[in-house]
Amino acid sequence: MEHYFQPEIECASREQIIELQNERLVKQVRHVYDNVEYYRKKMDEKGVTPEDIKSIDDLHKLPFLTKDDLRDAYPYGLVAVPLSDCVRIQSTSGTTGRRVVAFYTQHDIDLWDECCARAIVAVGGTKEDVVHVSYGYGLFTGGPGLNGGSHKVGSLTLPMSSGNTDRQIQFMTDLGSTILCCTPSYAAYLGESINERGLKDQIKLKAGIFGAEAWTQEMRRDIEKSLGIKAYDIYGLTEISGPGVSFECSEQTGMHINEDHFIAEIIDPNTGEVLPEGEKGELVFTSITKEAFPLLRYRTRDICVLSRKKCSCGRTHVKMSKPMGRSDDMLIVKGVNVFPSQIETVLLNKGYAANYQIIVDRVNNSDTLEVQVEMTPEMFSDSVTEVAVKEKELVNALKAMLGIYAKVKLVAPKTIARSEGKAVRIIDNRHLY
Ligand SMILES: [Zn+2]
Repeated sequence: MEHYFQPEIECASREQIIELQNERLVKQVRHVYDNVEYYRKKMDEKGVTPEDIKSIDDLHKLPFLTKDDLRDAYPYGLVAVPLSDCVRIQSTSGTTGRRVVAFYTQHDIDLWDECCARAIVAVGGTKEDVVHVSYGYGLFTGGPGLNGGSHKVGSLTLPMSSGNTDRQIQFMTDLGSTILCCTPSYAAYLGESINERGLKDQIKLKAGIFGAEAWTQEMRRDIEKSLGIKAYDIYGLTEISGPGVSFECSEQTGMHINEDHFIAEIIDPNTGEVLPEGEKGELVFTSITKEAFPLLRYRTRDICVLSRKKCSCGRTHVKMSKPMGRSDDMLIVKGVNVFPSQIETVLLNKGYAANYQIIVDRVNNSDTLEVQVEMTPEMFSDSVTEVAVKEKELVNALKAMLGIYAKVKLVAPKTIARSEGKAVRIIDNRHLY
């Protein structure tokens, strides 16, 4: 039987959701215009006033915000309340070289925790559960977000943070963790470590909530098998609050966006034009309840599709697909768009684990693509000839998927550095940006 943390809103009618969004958007635009000089200037430049925004149908009139705006306005330029009303900051890891600092009032944190609580209840979490949070704590939103959600649900919360895998496994077995929250790459690593130690029958995990990096359906199946759980996706970004902007339900076919807090649009990343439902494009969010750091029409750079198809779980909020890539870190190799998720799909389909690295370079003005993949322990004993045959097989499969040649190098098991946070999948030595 499906459970909800806040059934009255999670299963509200479309009309109720639109009414709520209209009311909150109008109020939020006024709040931002009156309190954020940076965005007021943008609206003035575009000739839009708060009076022009009467409902969500007028959303497209508002200017976009991008990561560049966040950098320009760093650190306080987009804060909409007095600093004395803020109680927390969180920040991105800065992997793309631009740090984002987001601010929260206590009310913002309460709503964020509720969003994460919805995600935990959606995977079957109750106050009887032991929620094992192995996301990083600190400035990163992963740990604090799921931690807060778990408290709201009333579950026993283990604030493990990332790293120290031996201790993770010990707590997991000793305290009977039932729900694991971490990055998918760390979940895969934990699964591998638990099986190596022969401890699979001593863990009580039933579900996992994995996000903060891209992962494929094949990787989901691998994690589900190695940990003996159901693996669910969660999505969020620091700019908009953190994890819990959207989350997966029992149907596991996309993530419900918490539409009472965030309005989602899909746009053409090149023209900025809003695309009709079902078309693939860049995801844009407007946060309609945030007090301290309310971003309007923030371009996430994540490419995905929205769907309003009726969901078997009973939730009515729109669903987003897993991001299919980034409009900014998609690789263009020899003029061809390459998404790391395509490469991962090929590897997992061919029986490899998701331990790989993509190395892009430019030699004599021509792009080169190399994929280094760890052999499984069984393959490692194979002869040189057999390894060469396997490499050739992957070259052909990658060519079929990507349309271009990729050199494949099979390396010994455990030689590609494991990550306890976000996996480093791509090394682009061309330094094009
Ligand atoms: Zn659903």
